[in-house]
Amino acid sequence: MSVKYIPEPFRIKMVETIKMLSRDERELKIAEAKYNMFNLRAEDVYIDLLTDSGTNAMSQEQWAGVMRADEAYAGGSSYFKLLEAARDVTGYEYIQPVHQGRAAEKILFGLLLREGKYSISNMHFDTTRAHVELAGARAIDCVVPEAGDPSKRVPFKGNMDVEKLESLIKKYGAENIGLVVITVTNNSAGGQPVSMRNVRETAAVCRKYNIKLNIDAARYAENAYFIKQREEGYSNKSIKEIINEMFSYADMFTMSAKKDSIVNMGGLLGIKEDEQLFSSCKVRTISFEGFISYGGLSGRDLECLAIGLYEGLDENYLRYRIGQMEYLAALLDDAGIIYQAPVGGHGVFVDAQAMFPHIPYYEFPGQALAVELYKEAGIRACDIGSYMLGNDPDTGEQLHSAFEFTRLAVPRRVYTQAHLDVIADALIEIKVRAAEVKGYRITWEPPVLRHFQASLELVG
Ligand SMILES: *Cc1c(COP(=O)(O)O)cnc(C)c1O
Repeated sequence: MSVKYIPEPFRIKMVETIKMLSRDERELKIAEAKYNMFNLRAEDVYIDLLTDSGTNAMSQEQWAGVMRADEAYAGGSSYFKLLEAARDVTGYEYIQPVHQGRAAEKILFGLLLREGKYSISNMHFDTTRAHVELAGARAIDCVVPEAGDPSKRVPFKGNMDVEKLESLIKKYGAENIGLVVITVTNNSAGGQPVSMRNVRETAAVCRKYNIKLNIDAARYAENAYFIKQREEGYSNKSIKEIINEMFSYADMFTMSAKKDSIVNMGGLLGIKEDEQLFSSCKVRTISFEGFISYGGLSGRDLECLAIGLYEGLDENYLRYRIGQMEYLAALLDDAGIIYQAPVGGHGVFVDAQAMFPHIPYYEFPGQALAVELYKEAGIRACDIGSYMLGNDPDTGEQLHSAFEFTRLAVPRRVYTQAHLDVIADALIEIKVRAAEVKGYRITWEPPVLRHFQASLELVG
């Protein structure tokens, strides 16, 4: 074990009691939940790694902001404070708060995509893919091939395959590409970072073919921290300078603020300079979200987000944050458990296919490991693999994901070193009896985003 745990750069002022049910109770609860982690009650979970989205612990400054906030319907001071913060951090002129990331996708994608159009991304997150498809278009993933090999350690595994991007544009016709999306960090590939050089090169291809580039900016700060650590020429730049440069290459961004901005709810849509596009976004915001100065959020949400945008940039915090992932990953290295390596920014993506080589993709190894983790130690994780990917919208056939991960997403400022030890111990126990673990089949599923709602049963 060569990795030291980075001590928390904060102390704890408020606590929330958690408890572990007995093994028998856990077996019953997960069966009652139809083996869908989203159907479990949170109170029946000991360590909740379902997502790092909106599960963050806010700071005392943010909680003070809850009280200070302005709840005016129009033109509240919290709105202006948020505009100022978001303009400062991203460098973009036009900023629209929305209730969460997918709302920004719904507003923007509906303007740029329709039937016959394509969106190309280093990887579409599930809601991003859903909004491409709901707009009538098709989503194409174009990540570098190294991303598909969990044991290959390269610094920027989340990158766009720029050569392939250009050939896809030629194949489908530049006029049919509604937008290109660069997701930082690349969530679906394991929270893997994208290099500044890759953003720059992706932007150059987009400019050449006159295609708009959107940053899916949920983890803008974690990505910037990796650039600072790993990319030549950035070690002396501040996180904010790196973020500013990254955004300067794109035309717009959609952001789930529930990740790096360390709030429980919120999102942003930003447009660099296209005033007309922003004007159309505002119209859609009012119909879908609410008036432009609150965008589906309370004044207190706007206020906390304005503060969180800056707290997310703090380097001491980011060092601890990424340090947690590196600590957990090192425990898995010692145990020979394979995960998307090097570890990403917001969680450990365990290679469930490597753990369960006997479970085929259509019986969802990533979901099987998630169920085992709950049974073993009351840990809630989720599948990032074929189960999440779903069916081909044209043929209805189960798609075969490039990876079968079980994602252990780590909430920000929530769990301690001892919790991470419990997680590693549970995985080590499961590895011992891996050959006995069986797969699952779906007994019911909705037409889109099925993993949130589907029912499953054990195979055999
Ligand atoms: C979370 C997330 C979204 C969607 O945001 P919500 O706030 O959950 O609606 C989009 N893209 C990425 C990369 C995300 O991680």
